[in-house]
Amino acid sequence: MTPETSARKPELRVLLCAPRGFCAGVVRAIDAVERALEIYGPPVYVRHEIVHNKYVVEGLKAKGAVFVEELDEIPAGTTAPVIFSAHGVARAVPEDAARRNFFAIDATCPLVTKVHREATVHHKRGREVVLIGHAGHPEVIGTMGQLPEGAVSLVETAEQARLFQPRDPGNLAFTTQTTLSIDDTAEIVAILRERFPAMVAPHKEDICYATTNRQEAVKRVAPAVDAMIVVGAPNSSNSQRLREAAEREGCRHAVLVQRAGEIDWGVFGAIASLGVSAGASAPEILVEEILDAFAARYTLRVETVHTAHEDVFFPLPRQLRSDAAE
Ligand code: SF4
Repeated sequence: MTPETSARKPELRVLLCAPRGFCAGVVRAIDAVERALEIYGPPVYVRHEIVHNKYVVEGLKAKGAVFVEELDEIPAGTTAPVIFSAHGVARAVPEDAARRNFFAIDATCPLVTKVHREATVHHKRGREVVLIGHAGHPEVIGTMGQLPEGAVSLVETAEQARLFQPRDPGNLAFTTQTTLSIDDTAEIVAILRERFPAMVAPHKEDICYATTNRQEAVKRVAPAVDAMIVVGAPNSSNSQRLREAAEREGCRHAVLVQRAGEIDWGVFGAIASLGVSAGASAPEILVEEILDAFAARYTLRVETVHTAHEDVFFPLPRQLRSDAAE
């Protein structure tokens, strides 16, 4: 491009949310698959998308990971590792893997495991567990599957919280999915608390630090921009919540985009300011791809808006640490 054409490009102020993108649980899960491939060689079986991002999944496939939805898709008698995704699995899954003599490696995020433990403790203490979350999400299936069928009641909306009828209103506890909207969840919890004041709450918030920090950054940036892009997959809960948070803060054009090719230039081709964030499962390289696409049309003035500092790190699953050491 000649300096003359570049001079004609309009200016675009870009506010880049920080933190954004990969969280410690996602980094650990992807590392687990990569390390397993290095240590044991391909194939490495992964139950469900290791994290909700097609780019990441395709990259791991190219290195020899084989993604399956259920264990019966894995050949009987294999000695290859079978990795459970960051979202966690129902108790029946590792039990089934043990029956099949599979070498299972659990890459469930430790913050999801914390929720599993809470639900189990409440159940042991005879409490009915209310799980606030989205039906059908793998994390919700995994958390509900920690307890016998019927022991967990799922509440998805404020309306359901108003109508919920527990077996014993004096003996309730709640947990939540880790990737929910902070504001929606606060509303649901407030309704339940008002109706059931004795309801036991988590010691520490179940919505994880990464979800919280990314939503706070989006809430700061969204009111100050004409449009907002959240890099992330449609099946990524935390990415969807970021888009909704931007919309709720008054940003008229807040969209979820997986790759630069999806950008609707009818909307994004005539703006003066843009906010950019990325869900916890979206790699930074895709944020760069999006910025490059804008740089081809605009002269960018990029500012980073920091709202929190993150230094969370989770070590690899135990089996991988000891086998790597050997
Ligand atoms: S979003 Fe939170 S709970 Fe989910 S993997 Fe990341 S850190 Fe863990």
